[in-house]
Amino acid sequence: MDYQRCVKLLGDSMSEECGIIGVYSSEKRELARSVCYGLYALQHRGQEACGIALSSDNKIVHHKSLGLVSEVFVDSLVNSLPEADIAVGHVRYSASTQDKSIQNAQPLVFNGKRGKFAVVSNSSIINAKQLKAGLLEENILFQTSLDSEVFGVLINKFSKNGYLDGVRHAVEMIEGSFSTLIMTRSKLIAVRDKFGIRPLVLGKIGLDDYVVASETTALDAVGATYVRDLEPGEILVISSKGLESIKWSNETKHAFCIFEHVYFARPDSVIEGQSVYKARRDSGRLLAKNFPVEADIVSGVPESANVAARGYSEESGIPFIEALTKNSYVGRTFIKPNQGQRESAVKIKLNAIKANVEGKRVILVDDSIVRGTTSKKIVQMLRDAGAKEVHLRIASPIVKHPCFLGVDMQTYNQLIGAYRNAEQICDIIGADSLAFLDIDMLEEACSNGHYPHGFCTGCFTGKYPVEMDMKELDKQFND
Ligand code: SF4
Repeated sequence: MDYQRCVKLLGDSMSEECGIIGVYSSEKRELARSVCYGLYALQHRGQEACGIALSSDNKIVHHKSLGLVSEVFVDSLVNSLPEADIAVGHVRYSASTQDKSIQNAQPLVFNGKRGKFAVVSNSSIINAKQLKAGLLEENILFQTSLDSEVFGVLINKFSKNGYLDGVRHAVEMIEGSFSTLIMTRSKLIAVRDKFGIRPLVLGKIGLDDYVVASETTALDAVGATYVRDLEPGEILVISSKGLESIKWSNETKHAFCIFEHVYFARPDSVIEGQSVYKARRDSGRLLAKNFPVEADIVSGVPESANVAARGYSEESGIPFIEALTKNSYVGRTFIKPNQGQRESAVKIKLNAIKANVEGKRVILVDDSIVRGTTSKKIVQMLRDAGAKEVHLRIASPIVKHPCFLGVDMQTYNQLIGAYRNAEQICDIIGADSLAFLDIDMLEEACSNGHYPHGFCTGCFTGKYPVEMDMKELDKQFND
């Protein structure tokens, strides 16, 4: 449960939908175990369901279920799965309650025109509804509410000359963010949207085996060496012929989700050569430089804001001392509580360390504020424990806009910052002061000379890489 990001998942939460991994091996081996290790390393990207599909002896077998990787893939199950030469795995977070069924767990396995194939995806296809309506007209039935199924159906529909051809056609039709793996009986096909919004990296094991995964942390877990990030608008085919890279769009642009650096990605991951840990530490340093305040201690909201808090402490010279401790042993039932439950859930998950905060002026660093409910509870918690002052410093700008590109914050009403400035938010939260990092500073921290490309900053700036009818999407996502 280490990476369940207790506080964020409890209340002031944004959660992303999914982590994916695929392994291509030059010879049959126990790939289920490798994929499991990779999924453990991606568990922070989704805790609701998980699954693995294996290509073995020209057949595709799969297992998926609701629950954590450790709960679903117990040793006896993993041992019973066949050796394989290709495998894909998925961990899932679902944005809405009606999505929480086993049917919506991935991999999705299709009985296609050219044999079975499996799809795992970290995606948000904004025209899925329209595409689905057209496919329904053609009497194509759907089993799930996933946009990945629309993707799979399109791949099959256009696969007259093989599934790669189907993929090439499908990617031309879908709009939004997607990092997706397609496993056929002989190929692993990886594809990334033309803006590279969601992460996807390639790694290598030995001479001929390859791994593609959401984050480098999964490469580390399976013993793969990082090769490169997939390019925006790239299709990468891995087969017995080796690697083939195809550029499927000439209109590519780098617009990587900057929130991966702020919160989603694990701190030990590296994205486009930039260490997530370093990006967070530098964000904290910039916060301290630009928004100083006199205080006795600096602390982070565990776990995700601890790195930025250390950066703040290093820059300001104010000691980093834990003000809060988290309970890592609360069950999954607390991961996505409703609004009412959120209130008490925060207290169960987090507690103030009285000995560290009593009589102290505390700078509390958090990575972001979305709804604001958690921040308010935490400030009160610190005051109840005797803190003399509580100054909040946020290592990202105010979240002012929703995200329709794969992150679960899809209405303006969910966002405390949608219609309020920092001063008004500070009043609601009850802190002595509140400051947010500017977007330029955040981009500087996340770039650091290693990432010469652009970011998606839509939820902060309202500028998205994909053209979107915000009113229509608001209606669609919140129907
Ligand atoms: S809108 Fe925000 S959360 Fe969504 S993809 Fe862009 S940066 Fe990421």
